[in-house]
Amino acid sequence: MAESPKSAWPQSSVLRPFSLNELFALWERYPDAVPYSGGTGSGRTELPNNILSLEGIEELGRITRTERYLELGAMVRLSEIIALGKNTQRNAMISDALTLSLLHTAAPAVRNLATIGGCVISGGDALAAMTALDARYELRGARQTRWISAARFSVLGGVLAYHELLTRIRIPLEQWDYTIPYKFDEGTLLILIRNQKNLLAKIQVIFGGKNLLLRDKNTETFLEGQRLPLEKKDVLRFVELWENYLAGLGTPDPFLKTRILNSIEAGLLGLAV
Ligand SMILES: Cc1cc2nc3c(=O)[nH]c(=O)nc-3n(C[C@H](O)[C@H](O)[C@H](O)COP(=O)(O)OP(=O)(O)OC[C@H]3O[C@@H](n4cnc5c(N)ncnc54)[C@H](O)[C@@H]3O)c2cc1C
Repeated sequence: MAESPKSAWPQSSVLRPFSLNELFALWERYPDAVPYSGGTGSGRTELPNNILSLEGIEELGRITRTERYLELGAMVRLSEIIALGKNTQRNAMISDALTLSLLHTAAPAVRNLATIGGCVISGGDALAAMTALDARYELRGARQTRWISAARFSVLGGVLAYHELLTRIRIPLEQWDYTIPYKFDEGTLLILIRNQKNLLAKIQVIFGGKNLLLRDKNTETFLEGQRLPLEKKDVLRFVELWENYLAGLGTPDPFLKTRILNSIEAGLLGLAV
């Protein structure tokens, strides 16, 4: 008897829960199931045996806003977030840091599928913005829910507990006057500045990438309180302080280090005389 040709695609079952309770019950029955949100970031060449689709869980697709923060369900698409940022009437809802970071992520077709939850879990371009904006993540398991700051989650390597899901992201509604993003293959560099009566009241310089979060709070205080536009010598000193910070860490690699330092210099010189 002729052997039937093997299918190029392994036989995968797609589990489609409609609520989180249903999801965790299914996960207990199929412990090897892998969550899929947009399916664009998994980097797998083979599909897992069991796919746990998050598509049908309505609460994961919600966008809500209170006076103090914006809440994004993990299944909100990157393109939806960018659209929120472009809508001038609802502009105050979302910080430029997040929309500009996501505008540099992949192509529109990918952004229509990719979700903010998948982006955070796979160490994508939203990490620097989430940290800069003091976002908090809701992580849910079958029996417990915990909240963790974006910065801490990154520092801990973005690791979820067994059968844990990122369900919601809470982002304080803080506005910055200047947002300067630089995208590299390895991650995103963000420079955020708050201007108060022509004084630089606050600055954050953050690089976020897969397994790498760089921020030096001590260096930021050097520029805080300086008059805007900045003086060129202060910008160069700031870059030098960042160089010392990176030298102390011994990471990242020299090529990325140079690109980060050059970008900080170029970004801040744009605000200098
Ligand atoms: C052509 C192309 C270009 C790309 N360019 C970029 C780019 O420029 N920048 C960038 O950052 N990324 C890029 N990506 C990667 C990817 O599109 C993004 O990281 C995307 O945001 C992943 O989201 P997703 O919803 O598709 O995640 P998925 O692929 O569904 O999931 C990614 C991982 O996260 C897990 N996961 C998903 N959702 C959850 C959840 N809620 N809780 C727990 N675990 C979860 C999954 O199990 C999987 O391991 C690109 C991808 C493609 C195909």
